[in-house]
Amino acid sequence: MATHVIVGASLAGAKAAEAMREHGFEGRIVLVGDERERPYERPPLSKGFLKGDEAKDKVYVHPERWYADHDVELRLAVTVTGLHRTRKEIELAGGERVGYDRLLLVTGSSPRKLTVPGADLAGVHYLRRLGDSERLREVFGRGGALVVVGGGWIGLEVAAAARHHGVEVTLIEPQPAPLHAALGREVGEIFAAMHRGHGVDVRTGSGVTTIEGADGKVTGVQTTTGQLVAADAVVVGVGVTPNVRLGEAAGLEVDNGIVVDERLQTSDGAIWAAGDVANAFHPLLDQQVRVEHWANASNQGTAAGAAMAAEADGKTTEPYTKLPYFFTDQYDLSMEYHGHVGRGGYDDVVLRGDPASGSPWLAFWLRQGRVMAGMNVNDWDAADAIKALVRSRAVVDRDQLADPSTPLPTPSPPR
Ligand SMILES: Cc1cc2nc3c(=O)[nH]c(=O)nc-3n(C[C@H](O)[C@H](O)[C@H](O)COP(=O)(O)OP(=O)(O)OC[C@H]3O[C@@H](n4cnc5c(N)ncnc54)[C@H](O)[C@@H]3O)c2cc1C
Repeated sequence: MATHVIVGASLAGAKAAEAMREHGFEGRIVLVGDERERPYERPPLSKGFLKGDEAKDKVYVHPERWYADHDVELRLAVTVTGLHRTRKEIELAGGERVGYDRLLLVTGSSPRKLTVPGADLAGVHYLRRLGDSERLREVFGRGGALVVVGGGWIGLEVAAAARHHGVEVTLIEPQPAPLHAALGREVGEIFAAMHRGHGVDVRTGSGVTTIEGADGKVTGVQTTTGQLVAADAVVVGVGVTPNVRLGEAAGLEVDNGIVVDERLQTSDGAIWAAGDVANAFHPLLDQQVRVEHWANASNQGTAAGAAMAAEADGKTTEPYTKLPYFFTDQYDLSMEYHGHVGRGGYDDVVLRGDPASGSPWLAFWLRQGRVMAGMNVNDWDAADAIKALVRSRAVVDRDQLADPSTPLPTPSPPR
């Protein structure tokens, strides 16, 4: 009987194990992770769970007994320290080795650390794991002043959750607008205005030079524009880096993540990678893409598990072609984003509806008249039409796109 080993007891890892069983794989499945918790979803950690609205038992991917019920050996709190490809073995901290016929790397990503003086003071926090969110919830419960360093998704969601707890929040972002890299300046400024409207002091165009402290504890943040912002706590959200160390040390191809093909297979035919750590070839986008979002981890985990089960059965699966997708919830804004716009990958932004009105609205990022990505805000019905527009790569009528009183353009399929 074959053995499938999954490194990373993560969302992608749990979905892969599930897909293997659903696709009839009857061999041994070993799911190894270095966290104490069984696989859980991270989005609530900066939203409902952090706000105190969502219970802990809601964050897990599967109920506790699911693993035993599906004969999945779950090994938690164990770090995989080595990958020996010629022997087809992984090595665990402590020296134990586990052999595999097929291996899935779903090691995810880790927060990028701030390196300025004072970054190691007590009261400087990062948010990736369940325990981080539990700690922050306690911090927010005490009130006081919070500085959020970084206006990306994590920074903005943390700011919204902190405001929910009544904490005073200053957000520091070096770019001209929050979410600048993800959405561009135009839409980033809409998010900035929303946060200001909820009492966040959003300071763009300035970075952090030093974190000030007294008695080993943070007291404030010194900015590149010469301001000292008082703080009882700091949350740093300056992006993540993929956890490639295992794959890299074992000689797999690594370039902004573990490089995989459209079936999520690495340069070693017995090894797959999925989720945040995988830089996968996307047939529709015709390029390698690494996506750091929930749906990608879930869907690629499922796809990799299915591919591994199929191969064990002498078959192959279809390439992974799902559009990149992500979502956020901040205050009373819930949005979904479909598509992919690389750096400088758009030349026009079209808004449909008025973001200041409080009504649902849409945004589109276009290149040469084609919709590269679209976003629906508080409007779930538009999602399918947006996806169809992105997939079609058709040139669209800009005026029709912008006019909420007309239907969204329906593209004819690409020739
Ligand atoms: C607070 C927060 C909020 C988020 N909100 C959203 C959202 O609203 N929308 C959205 O689309 N996305 C969101 N995301 C992103 C989404 O959660 C990630 O894309 C997703 O978790 C990636 O899953 P993964 O399975 O690829 O890896 P990860 O979740 O990173 O899990 C990888 C696991 O592997 C473990 N591991 C790594 N190396 C080893 C090793 N050598 N040995 C053993 N174990 C190892 C890690 O510790 C970790 O447990 C959020 C992320 C965070 C942190």
